Amino acid sequence: MFPLIANSLLIVGAGILVASLFPVRQLLVQLPPGQARARWYIMAILNLTFITGYLAYALLFWDQPLDLHDLIVPGVFFFGACFVWMSSMFSLQAVNDVRRVTLLEQENITDPLSGVYNRRYLDRRLEEEFDRGKRYETPLSILMIDIDHFKQINDRFGHQAGDLVLGFLGKLTLNSIRASDISARYGGDEFLIIAPNAPVSMADTIAERLRQHVESHELVLTSDPGIRQEVRVTVSIGVATCCQKTDSIQKLLTDADAALYRAKQAGRNRVAVHLDSSSAGT
Ligand code: GH3
Ligand code: MG
Repeated sequence: MFPLIANSLLIVGAGILVASLFPVRQLLVQLPPGQARARWYIMAILNLTFITGYLAYALLFWDQPLDLHDLIVPGVFFFGACFVWMSSMFSLQAVNDVRRVTLLEQENITDPLSGVYNRRYLDRRLEEEFDRGKRYETPLSILMIDIDHFKQINDRFGHQAGDLVLGFLGKLTLNSIRASDISARYGGDEFLIIAPNAPVSMADTIAERLRQHVESHELVLTSDPGIRQEVRVTVSIGVATCCQKTDSIQKLLTDADAALYRAKQAGRNRVAVHLDSSSAGT
């Protein structure tokens, strides 16, 4: 009777250890290369060692006469296996939860059409960067970007094509900015780039580089198989820089908007710098 119980505890325990290799395998697939993944490789190797140990122990005492107290070790082995299985399952669940929360957080601050940050995130970061600029007396520039004749693109190619153009422009803005800059959709066909620590001359350079980048790229639309349509867009960009003691975020935005208006008035596909900004942070 006791040998049967002992062997059952060991074999079921080994089975539980085998089962715990599945969540470990999932963790190895999901975790990015690095220390955490390496630790789970070690965990998997230890697990395999334990399984071998359990089976060896069972074989060793297979036909030995056993007493009640001889069940202590197989019992500990069994509960040890349960512990390993639960730890692996909880770890997998924790990793999944973290991934889900990270994804939700990312979705919460991303504009789905353009792939850049959304207005909510933009407002928050603008406030933070504005405060930082004022506190450390460093220049803060913004680039207000508006697609030229975007209505015509919607009218000619359809609203869905217009949406693709927004995604295309989102990518181009990301390719043209520094890692410390923030690109966001301001609304409609307008994007806003926050360039912390960028004096007006640098912001002007970033804006001109982006304008040329957009002008030189074409988006190929393939709505139906075999039908290719090439769309070229241009953008007008208004640049404004702050921050004096008396400045406000609203003034910065109004300045950039005024510069953008001038760029549009001057014929579009160009960069205009707000006049006051030319003395700011140079
Ligand atoms: P301008 O050169 O003066 O900027 O001309 P415009 O035609 O681009 O004029 P405006 O910037 O005022 O037009 C913005 C248009 O963007 C109007 C609207 O139909 C379109 N639009 C706004 N949001 C979206 C969107 O999410 N998807 C698409 N496809 N179009 C949008
Ligand atoms: Mg426009």
